[in-house]
Amino acid sequence: MKYYSTNRQSPETDLQQAVIKGLAADKGLYMPATIPVLSDAFFRGLAGRSFPEIAYEVASAFFGDDVDADTLQFIVGDTLNFDTPVVKVSDLVYALELFHGPTLAFKDVGARFMARLLGYFIKKQGLTDVNVLVATSGDTGSAVANGFLGVPGIHVYVLYPEGKVSPIQECQFTTLGQNITALEIDGTFDDCQALVKSAFMDRELNERMQLTSANSINVARFLPQAFYYFHAYAQLQKQNVRNDIVFCVPSGNFGNLTAGLIAHRMGLPVKRFIAANNTNDVFLQYLLTGRYRPRPSVQTLANAMDVGDPSNFARILDLYGHNHEAITQCISGFRCDDDTIRQTVKTCYESTGYLPDPHGACGYAALQENLQPNETGVFLETAHPAKFKDTIDGIIGKNIEIPSRLQVFMRGKKQSVRLGKTFNDLKAFLLA
Ligand SMILES: *Cc1c(COP(=O)(O)O)cnc(C)c1O
Repeated sequence: MKYYSTNRQSPETDLQQAVIKGLAADKGLYMPATIPVLSDAFFRGLAGRSFPEIAYEVASAFFGDDVDADTLQFIVGDTLNFDTPVVKVSDLVYALELFHGPTLAFKDVGARFMARLLGYFIKKQGLTDVNVLVATSGDTGSAVANGFLGVPGIHVYVLYPEGKVSPIQECQFTTLGQNITALEIDGTFDDCQALVKSAFMDRELNERMQLTSANSINVARFLPQAFYYFHAYAQLQKQNVRNDIVFCVPSGNFGNLTAGLIAHRMGLPVKRFIAANNTNDVFLQYLLTGRYRPRPSVQTLANAMDVGDPSNFARILDLYGHNHEAITQCISGFRCDDDTIRQTVKTCYESTGYLPDPHGACGYAALQENLQPNETGVFLETAHPAKFKDTIDGIIGKNIEIPSRLQVFMRGKKQSVRLGKTFNDLKAFLLA
């Protein structure tokens, strides 16, 4: 399988180069040259198969030409050693829980898969020193750090804004040691992201170090997120859901939603998608007006979705041939402000017994307003509510329990390097 750049100014490349580079030289995002449609037999048999079995079939469609079957089977099995269950919330609404991995957020799937695939390519090429740079406001850093922990030949630098990441999130990437270095930047998340961008553009740095990105721009992190849409569908079949299925995806950089759209293109029988935003609603505005107007992000309770210029928007445009009408036929939007998040967490918990996190709450709220007759809605529950314990406790007036997996991180010793926010600070540190 070849991968092309959404800007079409760089040549097509193979999977190995797309994964090692992350972003194409023309700053476009890599996309698979074809999106294979899976067979009817595959869909008929879906309900009887396990998550790793389903994921292997989907992974083969994209990666099967470039990775031998045994290796791919190993990568899939080693990535997906936790479940992504579909849980009934009310008669017509289900939660697809994606938080049963090591850092309790959906990014574990893509981060672990990418770590193993990149590790395989590095070994094959005899590279010894690849550096992953990642900027985080919380969840990405923890998933990437834990996914890459101990992978030979790879060093991960997590840049995060000092004092702006919750203690629970911070301990998930500052206590690991080994090949993970946490860089505590005296600045904001936007500063961290700008530093990473500058690093990728700095010629001297790139001549002296092999740098790559583990954000959802990387195909190895983005495409595996398609797996769990198939698994969710299989579980609904098993539960005899016969209504049309609508997936509702709490969205920030839109990697998760775009992976769902790819699953759809591969033949997954889903009727439509809803993109749930917090107040950072540039995508909703695009759906309503046909104009894409990125703007600086504002801080919300669903902070992993505080994105003002979603990187995967280019992939969505490309998938639908830049046709606004085709996009609006398949995807609708929703905006959920902080008050609505609070109300939704509370009413969902009190009326159904299901406790969503602030991101999942945006998805649940969108379905409450948007679901049509004969539709069953599935919102992606992207993080465990305990990751946002202070917020959730305040809303429902309880002291929710922290899962033991999180407690283990919280007992570790914080190690981080404090850096100023200028690029020279970072560059000097990386080259030292
Ligand atoms: C990253 C994240 C999102 C947004 O996902 P995108 O793929 O960036 O749209 C939503 N919820 C949580 C908890 C996240 O960590």
